[in-house]
Amino acid sequence: MKLKEEQNQVAIELFSIGTELVLGQIQDTNAHWVAQQILQLGGELRRVTMLRDNFEEMHEALNAAIQRETALILTTGGLGPTPDDMTVAVVAKLIGMQPVVSEETTAEFRERRQMPENEVLNEALIKMATVPETATVLQNPAGWAPCISVVHKQSTLMLMPGPPREMKAVFEAHIQPLIAERYRAEIATARVYVSMFEAETSPLMQKVMERHPNVYLKAYVALRNAEGNTMPVDLVSTSADRADAETELQLATDYFRELVTDTGKHFSFENES
Ligand code: AMP
Ligand code: MG
Repeated sequence: MKLKEEQNQVAIELFSIGTELVLGQIQDTNAHWVAQQILQLGGELRRVTMLRDNFEEMHEALNAAIQRETALILTTGGLGPTPDDMTVAVVAKLIGMQPVVSEETTAEFRERRQMPENEVLNEALIKMATVPETATVLQNPAGWAPCISVVHKQSTLMLMPGPPREMKAVFEAHIQPLIAERYRAEIATARVYVSMFEAETSPLMQKVMERHPNVYLKAYVALRNAEGNTMPVDLVSTSADRADAETELQLATDYFRELVTDTGKHFSFENES
């Protein structure tokens, strides 16, 4: 067992902020996309939390992630100009800093809008240029609200805008390189098909994961084809080294195949239904 401290150096959490998400009015596509990216980059996303635009609830949830010593805390949403956008105010309070107008950001806004020196910035832009003191401001290639980064205790917090197009642009520009640098894990994946029910296959999957702790297996019961009697099972192998990830995946797949075929059931790499 690794030390707690060591384990948390790799922990990533994501917070999707927006009442409309929790109400089910808008699907949280940001979380799905970010989760896929982090997996590809070899990072370890431990938890995804969806939050309403509520100051106390956001404060409590983000504070808990800091208390868990989560290395990288990502948020999306709540960076816009409207009063329900409170992510900056919450984070400023959390880290005990004042929100201040970032001159660097207002200068950038002026340049992008080709505004004369004496023209006053509107309130919306001023709000989107407001960041916690000591924050690093990383410009948004696809919109106005920038990505804001602060370091507090063991955690780095990176705040991303909510609109999916902007979130993706910010993630690719500023967060992807950081994750790629911090987490050098490599992944290898495979999908196989078994002619089994979930209850039959899960003890076998457990055995594989016990023997190969760096390989995660998941059966997709919702994608089971009852007619063809096949169910997909994904294997995701993680290692610091690419060749090692592939070798572990191969060994785990072979072992899983052996366990399945020993029961007289069918195992294949193709969906034969
Ligand atoms: P916000 O930055 O919170 O003002 O969000 C701006 C827009 O992006 C709104 O129309 C949201 O509904 C949308 N949005 C925010 N968060 C997400 C998310 N997690 N997934 C998909 N769309 C989102
Ligand atoms: Mg919002």
